[in-house]
Amino acid sequence: MAELDLDFTRDALAPLEHYITIPCISPDYDANWEQDGHLDSAAHYLTSWAKTRAIADLTISIEQLPGRTPLIFCEIGATSDTATGTLAIYGHFDKQPPLGNWSEGLDPFTPVVRDGKLYGRGAADDGYSLFAAILAVEALEKAGTKHSRIVMLIEGSEESGSPDLEPYMDVLSERIGDLELLICLDSGAQSYDRLWLTQSLRGNVTCTLHVGVLEHGMHSGEAGGVVPSSFRIMRHLLDRIEDSSTGEILLDALHAQVPAEHQARFVEVADELGDPVGEAIASLEGLELHGQSGLDRLITQAWKPALAFTGISGIPSIEIAGNVLRASTTAKLSFRLPPSVNAQVAAQAIVEALEADPPHGALVSVKVDRALGQGWECKALDPWLATAIEEASLSGFGRSASWTSEGGSIPFLAQLGARFSDLAIVATGVLGPGANAHGPDESLDLAMANGVTRAVASLIADFAAKAQ
Ligand SMILES: [Zn+2]
Repeated sequence: MAELDLDFTRDALAPLEHYITIPCISPDYDANWEQDGHLDSAAHYLTSWAKTRAIADLTISIEQLPGRTPLIFCEIGATSDTATGTLAIYGHFDKQPPLGNWSEGLDPFTPVVRDGKLYGRGAADDGYSLFAAILAVEALEKAGTKHSRIVMLIEGSEESGSPDLEPYMDVLSERIGDLELLICLDSGAQSYDRLWLTQSLRGNVTCTLHVGVLEHGMHSGEAGGVVPSSFRIMRHLLDRIEDSSTGEILLDALHAQVPAEHQARFVEVADELGDPVGEAIASLEGLELHGQSGLDRLITQAWKPALAFTGISGIPSIEIAGNVLRASTTAKLSFRLPPSVNAQVAAQAIVEALEADPPHGALVSVKVDRALGQGWECKALDPWLATAIEEASLSGFGRSASWTSEGGSIPFLAQLGARFSDLAIVATGVLGPGANAHGPDESLDLAMANGVTRAVASLIADFAAKAQ
C-alpha cells in the first residue's frame, strides 16, 4: 500500500470536540429524545462534516423512520472495476448518559485534551467511528489506492440495545446490497499499542421474577411464622439457578465449552498482560474476586454465565420499613451468557427452573424481556483476511494484532451473521484501559484512534486487492 497522508488528530479532533458538546443521549436514558432533537443535531453535524471531505463518489443521507432514531447511511462507489464486493463499516453516534461525577476539570459535554487523550462523553464510544471510517477512505483515494464499494451504517440506538438498526437494515436492504466484510468499530482493546480484534461477545437475557403470597401486607406479629415469606421463597428459587456460596450458575443450558483457539489466545494475553480483567475492577479493599489467576478471569469474563440482580420491587426503603410481612417480592435478573449459548434456549431453561413446583403454592412468575441478546463468536477467518488483519495492525501500529474477548454484548453482530450467510465480521475498537466508556471521565486515546484509522484503511485496501 502507498504511504498514506492520514492524521486523525489533524483532521478529526476539532469536529469531534464539537460532537462532544451535543448531548445526544440514547433513547433509553432520555425519554424526551425526540422533542430534544439532540440525536438529529448530531446526525446533521456528522453528515455535514463527511460531505466536506475529499471522497469522489460519496452519498450520505440521514434516514428517518417514524418514531425511530435517525441513522446515517453512507455509500461510496468503488474506484476500480476489479474491486468487486461490498465492505461495510459500523459505528454509532448515540451516547451513554454522564453517569456519575466527572473528575476536576472534566465534563461529559465539554471536550478537554490532556496527555494525548480527548475527554468527553461519546468521544471513544463511539463518536470517533465515522471520522475514522471517512478519513481512512479519503486517505486511500488521495494516495490512489483502489477500494471497493463501501457502505457505512452509523446508527443512533446502540446504547439502547440497537432496536432501530434491524428496521433500517430492512428498509435499506437493496441499497446496502450483499455484504462480504463488516468492520465494527465499537469494540474494546486491552492496550493502546496494536490492533485488537474481538473473538467473542457474551449474550444477555434479562427477566423479572415475581413471588406473591398475600393480597396485601399484614402485621408481621399476626402473619410472621404462619405465612411463608416471599423473600425466603425467592432465595429458595434462586438457589435452583445459582450456587449462593460460589456464584456458579447451575443450569447446564447456560454453559458452554471454551474453544481451544480462544483458550490459546487467552493464555497469550495473560502471559503478556497478567490480569487485565482484575486490574480494571473497582473493588473495595480486601475483596477477593472470582477466579484463581489473570487467565482464569479472562475466561470467566468471556465464557462463563453470570447473574446480576439489577433491581428489586415490593420492598420499601429502610426509612419507611414497618413490621409488615410483605405481600410480594419482585426482582430483575440479568444473565450474561457464553458466546455460543442460544439465548432463546437459555431463557426457556431459566423460566422452567424458576416456575416449576412453586414452594408452598406461592404465586411465582417469570417474565422474560423481549430483546434477547444473542452472543457472538468470530467465524474462522479466510486466509486473505487473517493476513489482512496482521498487515492492518502493522500499518497502524508497527506491531502484530492481538485477539481478546468482551464480557459485554453487541447483539446485532449475531443478527447480521444470520442475515448475510457469507459475511465476515471484524470487530475492533479504541476502548482500552481507562477509556471508561460507560462511566465518568470517558476518553479517546488519540494515537490509538490514529492507529485504528490507518488499520481500517489497510483492511479496505486489502479487501479491494483480494477481489482482483
Ligand atoms: Zn458503543
